[in-house]
Amino acid sequence: MTATKRILVTGGAGFLGSHLCERLVAEGHDVICLDNFFTSQKYNIEHLLGKKNFEFVRHDVTLPIYLEVDEIYHLACPAAPGHYQFNPIKTMKTSVLGSINMLGMAKRCGAKILLASTSEIYGDPHVHPQPESYFGNVNTIGIRSCYDEGKRAAETLFMDYHRMNKVNIRIVRIFNTYGPRMHPYDGRVVSNFIRQAITGNDITIFGDGSQTRSFCYRDDLVEGFVRMMRAPDSFIGPVNIGNPGEFTIRELGELVIAMTGANVKLVTKPLPADDPSRRRPDITLAKKHLDWEPTIPLRDGLAKTIAWFKTVDMDQYRPPTPNY
Ligand code: NAD
Ligand code: UDP
Repeated sequence: MTATKRILVTGGAGFLGSHLCERLVAEGHDVICLDNFFTSQKYNIEHLLGKKNFEFVRHDVTLPIYLEVDEIYHLACPAAPGHYQFNPIKTMKTSVLGSINMLGMAKRCGAKILLASTSEIYGDPHVHPQPESYFGNVNTIGIRSCYDEGKRAAETLFMDYHRMNKVNIRIVRIFNTYGPRMHPYDGRVVSNFIRQAITGNDITIFGDGSQTRSFCYRDDLVEGFVRMMRAPDSFIGPVNIGNPGEFTIRELGELVIAMTGANVKLVTKPLPADDPSRRRPDITLAKKHLDWEPTIPLRDGLAKTIAWFKTVDMDQYRPPTPNY
């Protein structure tokens, strides 16, 4: 058991944040979950609200806030393309101003701070699989740029606060992660395919479905996060956390149909602009420095995710607020 800490999780009511809060609360830490519920729901954290070591703060990270903490996991940011493209200017503000506010807090408190960055910083990669040393191939002016460039700027801010102000940072680049508590209408491929299959709708393949992704189950990701936060100060990252198992989107669609037994077809839709054609993490650094590698194969993770989606009342999920 590690010593009890005061830990802030921004974006803590979201898909990944709520699981991280759960883990940290179970370990006995004093957890503050900060979120504005843009892409999440209160019931992601309602089971934690009564715990004496859990506190929720409704706040937008683009605005300053003063809290006293020892560690910050900085996740607040819309993550699904449909969510981050809803208000792209706000997405960029969330990444840049949100990171500045949280880095300022880390500097003032002497707290350690971890950034939830993304494989999107590699764009449509020319190097495959992607090692952390690859600078990426990113369009600065496309519809994904608000997210990709926002996260790239956030990484830059983290490194500059580290070099200039000696802030103790960690940078994690997350590759597509899925599991229970994904927003059923977030438009991401795993949530879309499962929702479509279990509601008897055809599965929408964008493009010809030959593009690839590597899918990491959320428990593996949370374990990687925590190991990175607790890694020796000599290893600040960036580090890739993801599952190197690589699948075409068509393969994923076929697997979801087979596993749900749904009587639906694969139908094709136009490929959105700048959709990366392939993606797979090189996890050599995570293995070496964190002794981390994923343990949950796609089939097992999908089985748990499908089971959860079957229990959910999808009418309870709201789209992002129009005033975001
Ligand atoms: P999510 O949308 O479920 O969680 C994001 C959370 O941030 C939500 O609860 C949302 O309400 C909150 N939020 C958004 N804007 C905010 C703001 N301005 N102020 C306060 N809170 C705000 O998505 P997720 O999949 O849990 O992603 C969490 C983090 O991990 C994000 O930073 C995302 O970019 C990163 N990430 C996720 C994946 C993935 O595959 N899940 C991949 C790469 C990176
Ligand atoms: N995709 C798809 N059908 C859908 C949703 C997504 O074919 O209904 C494709 C999408 O074009 C992309 C891949 O699945 O190639 C992963 O999409 P997602 O939005 O989950 O994540 P990202 O593109 O950010 O990796």
